[in-house]
Formats: sequence, C-alpha cells, structure tokens
Amino acid sequence: MQNRGVYIHIPFCSVKCHYCSFYTVYYHRSGKSLEPYLDTLGEEIRLHSLNPDIHDRPIDSIYIGGGTPSLLKADSVETLLNTLRGYLPLVDLKELTIEINPEDGDQQKFREYRSLGINRVSIGVQSMQDKLLEISGRNHRRQEIHKTLLGLQQAGFENISVDLLLGMPGQTEEHLREDLKLLWDYPLRHISLYILTLEERSPWFHQEKKIEIAEDTVADLYGELVAGLNEKGFQQYEISNFAQPGFEGYHNAKYWNYDEYLGLGTAAYSFLGKERFNNFQSMTRYRKAVESGQIPIEKKEILSWEKQLAEFIFLSLRKTRDGLNIKQVNQLFQIDFLSRYEETLHRFLDLRLLFLKDQRLCLTPAGVLVSDSIFSEFMTV
Ligand code: SF4
Repeated sequence: MQNRGVYIHIPFCSVKCHYCSFYTVYYHRSGKSLEPYLDTLGEEIRLHSLNPDIHDRPIDSIYIGGGTPSLLKADSVETLLNTLRGYLPLVDLKELTIEINPEDGDQQKFREYRSLGINRVSIGVQSMQDKLLEISGRNHRRQEIHKTLLGLQQAGFENISVDLLLGMPGQTEEHLREDLKLLWDYPLRHISLYILTLEERSPWFHQEKKIEIAEDTVADLYGELVAGLNEKGFQQYEISNFAQPGFEGYHNAKYWNYDEYLGLGTAAYSFLGKERFNNFQSMTRYRKAVESGQIPIEKKEILSWEKQLAEFIFLSLRKTRDGLNIKQVNQLFQIDFLSRYEETLHRFLDLRLLFLKDQRLCLTPAGVLVSDSIFSEFMTV
C-alpha cells in the first residue's frame, strides 16, 4: 500500500484572474485575519482523525495550494502543520510544498517557511510579459516575479517550480523565448505548463466580447517551450510537467499513480478507499458543516470497477515518460489490456498518437496535444 498525501486548500485571492475557474474567496490584503478559516481547517482535521481508516497508512507529502496560500503568515502555517502532526499519521515527510503568489516577495517570510520544513515552492508566474499579465487580470508584474524568485533563492529554497500559461490572447513564440531567457537567471528545478481553456466559471467565459485564445498557434507555442525546456535539461514526465532529473513532483505524482490523498478546506478533493469526494464550494456551508461536527462533503462518488479502470488508464497515460504499465493494469484489474482495447489502441497507434515500448503505452508528442480526445475514447470502452 502506498503512502497517502494531504492537500490543503487556501481559497483566498485579492483578485479574480480572468481565466480562473477555481472556487476563490475575495480577500483584501490589509483585510480581516485568516485565523477563523484556519481554525475551521483544524477542526476538519480533527474530524478526519476520528475515522480509524485514516490511520491505516502513513502520510508523507503535504501540498498547500490555492487560492493564495502565501497570504498565510509563517506562524499560521506552523499551527496548521502542528495540528496535522497531532491528529494524522504524518511520517518522514518527503515533500512539503506551498504555492507562492509573485505578489508575496517577502524574503523574511520565505526564510520562516523554510525553517518550518517547507522544501518545495511553486510560483504562479504565468508569463513574464506585463501586457499579458495585465490583460489576464493578474495583479503582479515582471518586477514582482524577479523579486519573489530572488527572495526564494536567497532564502535557500532548492526546489523551485514555476507555472507558465500557454495560449494567452496575443502571446507569441517570441514572448515565450524571452520568458525562458529571463527565468533561466534563477535555479529553477521544475516547470508546470498549462494550456489556457475557457472554463464556464471563469470571468472571461462570461464577458460579452469573447476572448481569442491563441488557439491556432498553441501547438507552435507548446513546441517552442518544450524545445527551450529540453535544452536546459528539463524532461517532460507528465502532460503539464517538466523537471530536472530527481525533481519530479512527489505529491502530485500520487494523483497520476492512483494513490490516495486527503483534501482539506473548501472545495478540496479527496480520493480515499476508491471513493472520490469534494468539500463544499461555499465558505458558509463548509464552515457550518464542520461546526456541526460533520466532514464537509458536498459530493461523493463510489467508483465502479469500470470507472476505476478508465481513471487508472488515463491518469497513467498522463505520465508521458512512464506511461501505462500494461503488466500492472492487467494484474490490478485482472484483464488482458491489449485485447480489451484492441480496436482503440490500433487506431491511435496507427495515427502515431500513442506508442508501445517495453510493455508500456505512452502518448507521442502529437498525442499530448490531443490527449483529452484520446482519454475519452478509453473512458467509453
Ligand atoms: S488564478 Fe490563482 S491567483 Fe488568480 S484567481 Fe485563480 S486561484 Fe486566485
């Protein structure tokens, strides 16, 4: 049995970025204390600890995401970590990540975070182009990104990850070349690359004049970035993720390896014992549930055997380097994968969107760009 991970959601943001579809709660930086939310989180952790099943295997990774977790003061993070240690079976933490907003370039806070055992930071850079940041509603600019990256470097962080967004309106290959050139001044270990999509809950989706995603050039933009990353020794190991050897995300790998994780806080997702559930996407309902002694679940799904198999396949295929281990899927689900999916497989192998090597099935670079369509075919077999 694999160890579990814990994800903690801090939903507060001082702006709503135009492309963002996450559940967020507006927070003015000089505004009210975040302590009441943290108290509720602490109580949610205590409620989970009453379930004997949560103690049946260790937790070895924590990811504090958002929202904007870097709004938290170091002593608040410390209290949260102590609560986790007090109630849940945390052992020998391999990775403790916090997401950092480039607006939060506070070096003193970064040093304090590090002294708490946080050993990985993930920064929502998105772009180094002020114009693109402005039109997408981000609050930070290139100058803040430099300050934050320098602050993290000086605070001694060795595992720094950066998020970049691809397909922003007006984004060009030249922008990306410049972005990478500027970013290589810092000792980055990991890059996450997200392709912009207009989700229904994002402000851009609802504005009258529809935003033009740079759709016809996304493949070129993607190619440009991948080439630039490979040149600097970053290997792609997952559809959206590139790392220098040994710096692949440990916590996030649990999602693709079909390992279990517990999500805490508003809108957080969990996968435990073949059940997926998510917490209330409403601060009021989340608080009310916890205050009345209930785990704040909004929706729960008990996964059928077929659903588990389909999820296992598409999550494995997301791992572009390791792919789907055919021996493993056959053993876990007692199937003969190659004959069960024969027709679908041949179609994608012939189109060179998938390839088979050493009993592993992987996406080709062309397959990565149409991966959603490939996954949906495996979901329907
Ligand atoms: S993209 Fe990040 S910072 Fe912007 S609104 Fe969404 S969660 Fe907040």
